Amino acid sequence: MGALLSKLGIMGSTNPIVADGAEPPSSGIKVIIVGAGFGGLTAAIECVRQGHSVVIYESFPELKSLGDIISFGSNGGRIFHRWANGSITAKMRAISIDLQNHGFKIRKFDTGEVIRHQLSPPRDLEAPTFNGHRGELHEIVFDHAKELGIPIELGKRVVRYFENEKEAGVELEGGEMVRADMVIGSDGVRSKARTLVLGYEDKPKSSGYAVFRAWFSNKDMIADPRTKEFCTGGDTFNGWIGPDVHFLFSTIKNGSDCCWVLTHKDEHDIDESWSFPGKLDDVYKVLEGWDPMCRAIVEKTPSIVDWKLVYRDPLPTWVSKEGRIALLGDAAHPFLPTSAQGATQALEDGVTLAVTLKRAGKANVPAGVRAYQDIRYDRVKKVQKLGEATRDMWHKTDFEKVKKDPKSIELPREDWVMKFDAERHAEEVFEKVMKKFM
Ligand SMILES: Cc1cc2nc3c(=O)[nH]c(=O)nc-3n(C[C@H](O)[C@H](O)[C@H](O)COP(=O)(O)OP(=O)(O)OC[C@H]3O[C@@H](n4cnc5c(N)ncnc54)[C@H](O)[C@@H]3O)c2cc1C
Repeated sequence: MGALLSKLGIMGSTNPIVADGAEPPSSGIKVIIVGAGFGGLTAAIECVRQGHSVVIYESFPELKSLGDIISFGSNGGRIFHRWANGSITAKMRAISIDLQNHGFKIRKFDTGEVIRHQLSPPRDLEAPTFNGHRGELHEIVFDHAKELGIPIELGKRVVRYFENEKEAGVELEGGEMVRADMVIGSDGVRSKARTLVLGYEDKPKSSGYAVFRAWFSNKDMIADPRTKEFCTGGDTFNGWIGPDVHFLFSTIKNGSDCCWVLTHKDEHDIDESWSFPGKLDDVYKVLEGWDPMCRAIVEKTPSIVDWKLVYRDPLPTWVSKEGRIALLGDAAHPFLPTSAQGATQALEDGVTLAVTLKRAGKANVPAGVRAYQDIRYDRVKKVQKLGEATRDMWHKTDFEKVKKDPKSIELPREDWVMKFDAERHAEEVFEKVMKKFM
């Protein structure tokens, strides 16, 4: 058990909340988690840290390194840092972008001139930020959950959710029924749990934008003298902003991997998907009249994903009628990529729910679940808005105004978002919030 506690980051850790050197007392609360994305895995790890027992059901039959770039703000890094005495963040650091020397260069779309050089803030070891390959970072979290002994049932698709006053559960494909004190529906943007919680299917709307995205090796980039500079002097991050379009390009792992995302107008109405293949010719069309460097980068790309950005109005609730099924992460609140907070907000959800369940106790699970929503709802909505504001600011840039106030164009890194400690906050406000539900 000593080894387990140490892995949990409980013994000898500096964690201000779960750090009394003792084994977390068992709450006796059993939790079923649907989905092993960042949201589900973090909820599982945090539930174990707070003394609950968990099982995860994931429809993917095996772990695959899917996706491309994903960001975690320092409010997410703080959560990872509390696991396994900082060894998880050490692993993440090694494969994430390092911009301490480079910062973020924001450029005018047509001339390529740098209109703002946004420096990276000093590194905070207890609350680091990470930008890296989703699949690689996900594997680190997945392996940590496995090391803790968390059962992760792969290839198990949940087809139905149910609850009554005393328990909640899921039906797996094939008919098996599993029951627990509560179920966390962290089953992503196309959540089935959401339909049960809302009592209707919440259809996404087109946001009017789509993103072309790519991740590739630097081989052809260094062979071209125009693009070589991005891959030979450490990691880089550049963004070109123009009317209704922005193009972000980064090099990672000491310039060996390259990644770009191009957000542009697109009215097509299709399902949310990460894997819809895109055409380079469509990208070239969007980049007509742009700094030729953008095209020089895109030409090196072997394949791209065309991801239509859908929008959902904030859901009226994330909690089922009996209070035993809770939505978490993208199932509850998908984010625009410009917020760079989608995954981090899913982590904060998991931390909060684990705390509210512990504080409410087994006899009051529904109240604990409702307290989770109450603590999270307004903050999530506010962070979601930030993503829209950044996109609009970049897409409607008045370059003359930016000349007078270059700072105005920076990627926001607001303290209320980044310096937030979800665990401490949940502990602090729990008692007051809980009074509403008892
Ligand atoms: C394949 C993939 C690639 C992605 N790539 C990127 C990226 O490159 N950049 C980025 O910023 N974000 C990416 N995302 C989204 C990002 O991971 C999420 O926005 C964020 O991490 C919040 O995660 P989540 O756990 O709420 O949802 P998700 O990461 O979507 O995880 C949901 C999980 O639930 C599982 N699931 C769904 N339905 C069921 C069911 N009925 N039964 C059992 N399991 C089910 C899914 O297989 C999935 O693993 C990607 C998501 C996925 C699924």
